[in-house]
Amino acid sequence: MEATVAAGETTEELVEHVDVLIVGAGISGISAACHLRELCPSKSFAILEARDAIGGTWDLFRYPGIRSDSDMFTLGFSFRPWEEQEAIAPGPKILDYLEATAAEHDIRDEIRFDHRVVRAAWASEDALWHVEAVRGGPDGVAGARRFTCRWLSGCTGYFRYDEGYTPELPGVDRFGGEVVHPQHWPGDLDHEGKRVVVIGSGATAVTLIPALSERAAKVTMLQRSPTYLIALPGEDRIAVALRRRLPARLAYALTRAKNIALQMLSYRFSRRFPKLTRRLLRRGVSDNLPPGYDVDTHFNPSYDPWDQRLCLDPDGDLFRAISSGRAEVVTDRIESFTEAGIRLESGAELEADIVVTATGLQLLFLGGIELEVDGRPIDPAAAVTYKAMMLCGVPNLSFSVGYTNASWTLKCDLVARYVCRLLNHMDAGGYAYCTPRPPGPGVELSPVIDLDAGYVRRAVDRLPRQGARAPWRLRQNYPYDVAMLRWGSIDDGVDFAVAPRPAPPGAARPTPPLPA
Ligand SMILES: Cc1cc2nc3c(=O)[nH]c(=O)nc-3n(C[C@H](O)[C@H](O)[C@H](O)COP(=O)(O)OP(=O)(O)OC[C@H]3O[C@@H](n4cnc5c(N)ncnc54)[C@H](O)[C@@H]3O)c2cc1C
Repeated sequence: MEATVAAGETTEELVEHVDVLIVGAGISGISAACHLRELCPSKSFAILEARDAIGGTWDLFRYPGIRSDSDMFTLGFSFRPWEEQEAIAPGPKILDYLEATAAEHDIRDEIRFDHRVVRAAWASEDALWHVEAVRGGPDGVAGARRFTCRWLSGCTGYFRYDEGYTPELPGVDRFGGEVVHPQHWPGDLDHEGKRVVVIGSGATAVTLIPALSERAAKVTMLQRSPTYLIALPGEDRIAVALRRRLPARLAYALTRAKNIALQMLSYRFSRRFPKLTRRLLRRGVSDNLPPGYDVDTHFNPSYDPWDQRLCLDPDGDLFRAISSGRAEVVTDRIESFTEAGIRLESGAELEADIVVTATGLQLLFLGGIELEVDGRPIDPAAAVTYKAMMLCGVPNLSFSVGYTNASWTLKCDLVARYVCRLLNHMDAGGYAYCTPRPPGPGVELSPVIDLDAGYVRRAVDRLPRQGARAPWRLRQNYPYDVAMLRWGSIDDGVDFAVAPRPAPPGAARPTPPLPA
């Protein structure tokens, strides 16, 4: 029922039921929906999306030069070839690809935009998730909608959408120029002829700097400590050659397999031989910069390769901008902002018209949805993951989180397919729900993300943990996950329930109250 509401009012509407409710219409939500269409065609589903567009990350980030930092043959879906020329693609082309995939698989009509899921309560009584989404349209019309579903798929990405991470910036109020976070790039910001300082050394800074340097007077990358950088061609010549000779699908599959193997081998090599990898990376950097450049200060990190993500510099754009003098790197710490720029601990001053805080994201598990199981709140920090896609003790819920050492979509496609396997298995056995068991007492638990990056360290206490062995252990290893999720056992460490269980006396009601 569509209720008519006046601006500023809140309304309650009838509960809508679907078999599967997907939260999020980014890469992983689109993958989940396409897999359901193909592998569980009789299941009804809807996608609840907080924003008014699909694409998630690729619609949100609008800063100059926005692009992928892994290749599109693995960031693309397993089921739909990436047919553009570039292997490292600009954001708008990725968004077009996601839009086209949604249209081709006829899922656009199933997306409910402007639906932010705030709460989900599982009730064993009726074996359903009772989900509450809030709306807040631009016209001020607010509302809450209720849904029920048999299965809840969290495809919410991994960071807060409303706010990026900005560290304390001493004296920033004094600064006379503009301060911008890449997550909220103003469409009308003109950097032509301006002096820009980009604070940060991660993928965003490395992407932004060459793009800004094309029109800015000068761009300075201000970093506290260096990051590993590798310059690689933005186009994959083997992919182009295969495409010329083979049907699109076959060429895509072969390029994808090649890139998965290369990613894995290079990751394994660098973890096994960190000193040699460090030397090779350092040589790659110095070969791309003018003779005498201080590589050790600016591009030789103290940690081992892949303790933090390696940054890609497609076609050596950043190195070219530095070599040409359009961009520079300063490795120092901020003492304080001044009216005209930034004073550094070394005593140097950087004058700036615009300061970009490429200082990162704020991690958020499951889009901040409050979870409840039979009236008991679920604290994500106290939860243990199962196959890195479900939570122990939480029935009929999956979540999609990609790899940190390979393209995100590889894992999302596997999770989406596994959920379909599980749903079909439950249908065949007449099961209403399944609940992963905890790993048992005495099993050592560890953080689910093993990167030493700042954004992980800041959030590690709020994220679920993993067990020390399968199926509770997350391995950043695609072939291992293929074996486990595509062909491995489906009932290891899981309890299947045939019929809804009556609620214990005094259990909280499954449907939480609507917000005022
Ligand atoms: C700038 C940038 C570049 C990146 N480049 C790469 C790359 O090259 N390769 C790579 O592998 N990874 C990359 N990543 C990681 C990237 O986030 C993933 O590749 C991928 O786009 C994530 O897709 P997703 O659908 O899982 O999440 P998202 O893209 O984050 O989409 C999640 C969606 O869920 C919605 N949502 C969240 N919470 C709720 C809620 N409570 N209710 C309703 N809707 C909700 C959001 O609005 C959003 O639309 C990059 C990330 C960033 C920030």
